[in-house]
Amino acid sequence: MFEEIRILGVKLHNVNFNHTIEAIDGFIRKRDRQNLIVTLGTEMVMKAQSDEVFKNIVNNASLVCADGVGLLWAAKKYGYHVKEKVAGVELLERLVELSGRKKWKLFFFGAAPGTAQEAKIQLLKKYPDANIVGEYHGFFEDDSEVKTMLRQTSPDILFLALGSPKQELWYIENAGELDIPVGIGVGGSLDVMSGKVDRAPGWMIKLGLEWFYRLYKEPSRWKRMMALPKFAIKILLTAKKAQKTPNAEKNN
Ligand code: UDP
Repeated sequence: MFEEIRILGVKLHNVNFNHTIEAIDGFIRKRDRQNLIVTLGTEMVMKAQSDEVFKNIVNNASLVCADGVGLLWAAKKYGYHVKEKVAGVELLERLVELSGRKKWKLFFFGAAPGTAQEAKIQLLKKYPDANIVGEYHGFFEDDSEVKTMLRQTSPDILFLALGSPKQELWYIENAGELDIPVGIGVGGSLDVMSGKVDRAPGWMIKLGLEWFYRLYKEPSRWKRMMALPKFAIKILLTAKKAQKTPNAEKNN
């Protein structure tokens, strides 16, 4: 369907924002399987280096898009031009906007208690015909309650904001039983949508400095962010080889 690239052995599709929306529309229409959409970040690629289960989940996902300039840069080093960054938070907002007209049922799952509900309130102010059929927080001991809600509401798109890799694992483990055609891991997007955490200013996003803004706002993220320089070094070390033999990375 879409061109497939491997970044350090992890799958990435060469898609732009509109392709992603069209593919999701197609998955809902077809309803023939459960489709995990991964919004891939550099930290996730690094996580996959030591976590084979997570790596397989990403590599078997229906669609993997680049959620960050780090991935676009890495692809370029390998000689590919990935069309566009597809950020989870932007994807969520666009799908919410379309949900009324398309009659898609959406469910928000994750973040601290009250956050998903607040995100829903804020989004409904902006998109009054949005079709958000339910929400549930992400700090549960037992997931039977959320499963019951998902059975009752039978959403078309489940937004999972549990952090990675928890969100991708949960969808893969449960989507078949619950029959949800699309699951999208959106990380901290509900925090942003609820207004709890603000997004970097537009000019910073354009310059690819969103990571810096997040670090400034949440200094406790520094440890996680150590994955970034490690990622860059690994890419630079492998780029020459990957460029000479374009298929080499595909077999990783
Ligand atoms: N979270 C959750 N359950 C957990 C751990 C985390 O619902 O057990 C939520 C957390 O509140 C936050 C989101 O998952 O809203 C992850 O945010 P993070 O910034 O780590 O994700 P990223 O955008 O970096 O993937």
